[in-house]
Amino acid sequence: MSHGTDIHQLLNRHFGFREFLEGQEAVVQAIVRGEDTVVIMPTGGGKSLCYQLPAMVLEGITLVVSPLIALMKDQVDSLVEKKIPATFINSTLTSAEMTDRIARLAQGEFRILYVAPERFKSERFVRIIEPLSIALFAVDEAHCISQWGHDFRPDYLRLKWAIKNLGQPQVAALTATATPEVREDIIVQLELGKGRRRPPQVFVTGFARHNLTLGVTMVQGQEHKLDRIGEFVRQLRTGIVYCATRKNVERVYGNLQKRRISCMAYHAGLKEEQRSKAQEKFMEGQCAVAVATNAFGMGIDRADLRFVLHYDIPGSIEAYYQEAGRAGRDGEPSRCEVLFNYADVRTQEFFIEGANPTRAVISGLYESLLRLCRNGPVEMSIAEIAEETPVAENDMVVGTALSLLARAGFIQRDYRQGSRTYTTRLVEPVKSFSDLPIDYERLEAKRERDFGKLRRMIDYADHRGCRHHFILRYFGETPAEGNCAICDNCLAHRGSGVRLPNEEETVIIQKALSCVARANGRFGRGRIAQALVGSRSKEVVDAGLDQLSTYGLLADLGPDYVWGLLEALIRAGCLDVSAGSYPTLSLTELGGQVMRRKTSVALLMPEQAAQKSTSRRTKAGKKERRQEMAEPSGEAYDESVFEALKEWRRTKSSAMNNLPAYLIYSDRTLEEIARRLPRHPEDLLEIRGIGPAKARQFGAETLAVIRRFAG
Ligand code: ADP
Repeated sequence: MSHGTDIHQLLNRHFGFREFLEGQEAVVQAIVRGEDTVVIMPTGGGKSLCYQLPAMVLEGITLVVSPLIALMKDQVDSLVEKKIPATFINSTLTSAEMTDRIARLAQGEFRILYVAPERFKSERFVRIIEPLSIALFAVDEAHCISQWGHDFRPDYLRLKWAIKNLGQPQVAALTATATPEVREDIIVQLELGKGRRRPPQVFVTGFARHNLTLGVTMVQGQEHKLDRIGEFVRQLRTGIVYCATRKNVERVYGNLQKRRISCMAYHAGLKEEQRSKAQEKFMEGQCAVAVATNAFGMGIDRADLRFVLHYDIPGSIEAYYQEAGRAGRDGEPSRCEVLFNYADVRTQEFFIEGANPTRAVISGLYESLLRLCRNGPVEMSIAEIAEETPVAENDMVVGTALSLLARAGFIQRDYRQGSRTYTTRLVEPVKSFSDLPIDYERLEAKRERDFGKLRRMIDYADHRGCRHHFILRYFGETPAEGNCAICDNCLAHRGSGVRLPNEEETVIIQKALSCVARANGRFGRGRIAQALVGSRSKEVVDAGLDQLSTYGLLADLGPDYVWGLLEALIRAGCLDVSAGSYPTLSLTELGGQVMRRKTSVALLMPEQAAQKSTSRRTKAGKKERRQEMAEPSGEAYDESVFEALKEWRRTKSSAMNNLPAYLIYSDRTLEEIARRLPRHPEDLLEIRGIGPAKARQFGAETLAVIRRFAG
């Protein structure tokens, strides 16, 4: 049976939506077909509908596990308003209310039941709901099951057991956390696809943000960063500057004040009152620029942010994309840029060190605490304890290790009203170090992961290919073919011949990449190029490169071509060049995928390189950027035409492979069209931002919009 028409009708009838948002339809279909699913969509992507709509089709109750108790009643009320019979069970109910709801559920009165995860702690609860016919077990905020996630909730670990006891209903797990390890963990922890079912269908969709120009600027130092912030503020006005530390927030804030750039500062070290005042000012639009640590974020729903700058490199792609993603919520073109300097990586390394004590640090702290507390409780700050603990390099790591030792039952830390700091005392009987229930392997694995995430963030900063694609691939989403045309790298490549390779070129690329792979990171570009063209030079033979199976594979193309090809592969992010006096080539993860034909990347194939003039390319790039930053002028214009033009531009942009809207017409150009209402092709040329090429390309359609919408 096909549910194709049914689900569209239901979408319209119950939810009042005309179309599915990106990715929703495929998920709904899979769930309706009875598949276990993992759905990864960004916040606001429309996850709820993915199980709410199937709930109307499936035979039985859709049970939704959601940790957001405060929102449950609202969610249920809004479903009931849509004539979808739904209810919830959580700790706010009396036991009489709960009994009543269960009875009504048993009678088939409700299609959707929201349940708080902690309910599953009670075996009695599971026994009570066991007789209900549960068709779909939907786990919202499913990342809470993963100890690698940022919001682990032990109650979620009970869900696997609950699912088993409820007769293994179909499961849908939904989250906005897109890291591969969290996704894997969800599948393992919920035992998705185990037993009689097929492997789960995994959907990662909706992470692309077509209106964001992503970029990285290599900066020399603080002054350079401040200059760049100044440019952004002058041209784009509204946005956030994220810093890694409170100190940097204060420093940037102070410097911007000196430069007479009005802004507000926000970090967790400020008093609650100061913070909420600053946030209010920003949200109400009294202040256009926020300088903040990542503490500033929750509840920032100001839609008109035109930029998000990172003064320091963040610790992971997840953190970066979440923060950068606060730009352009209104869908208008916006810019996100990392101001990058290798020295800044040290700050993030410091954080990771601080959050992940090694066994040696924990053991060192154990010894000092034994000594310090031997005569009873001591009132010492973390810094003072750190002083007494030689192995600990920073206070932060001591803080983390203290919490671990407290959790392991070795010490107790209390805070007395009016005291200067915490009191630390040994818990009797004092545990020996080897008896402490601390899982060092797990700690070590987490440390490795955190460093790995930072490395990927640095890879992003160094990346020479499409930044949007880099991020989508990181999250496991397959990017659309072709260039994004909107990140700094793709913009620099525009008109330069960067394109997807054809079949013949793909084979050439595979050959070149395999040669790099076989050389195993031991040789530089020159040697690899020589090997590929089959050079008999002494260096090649001495190095044994003539023994490689890839030796001479590209002999007919000649050394210049091969050299250019390697350059193009470096630029596209397929190859990595090591630092140091003898830079060697190695395959990146992306390069490996391209070599195995798992993906393809757009790049500048060598024969095009000879035809293009570099200086023209740079100029074109600059011009585009100027246009993109152009601001609306503020004079009166016909709003209905303006809106109609914007709608047309949106459609056009998606028809043109998501060409950034501002590359069609900037807002300012649209305003001018809406003000002057040109009726003839030649009138269009009077308008700023429209030259003969644009008039030829978009003129007829523009005039048609005006004819239709102008009074
Ligand atoms: P998430 O849980 O992924 O953060 P929600 O399920 O809360 O997102 O949906 C975000 C918003 O999108 C809600 O306001 C919802 O009503 C709206 N929405 C969901 N599906 C559609 C659709 N097909 N068309 C238009 N709006 C939709």
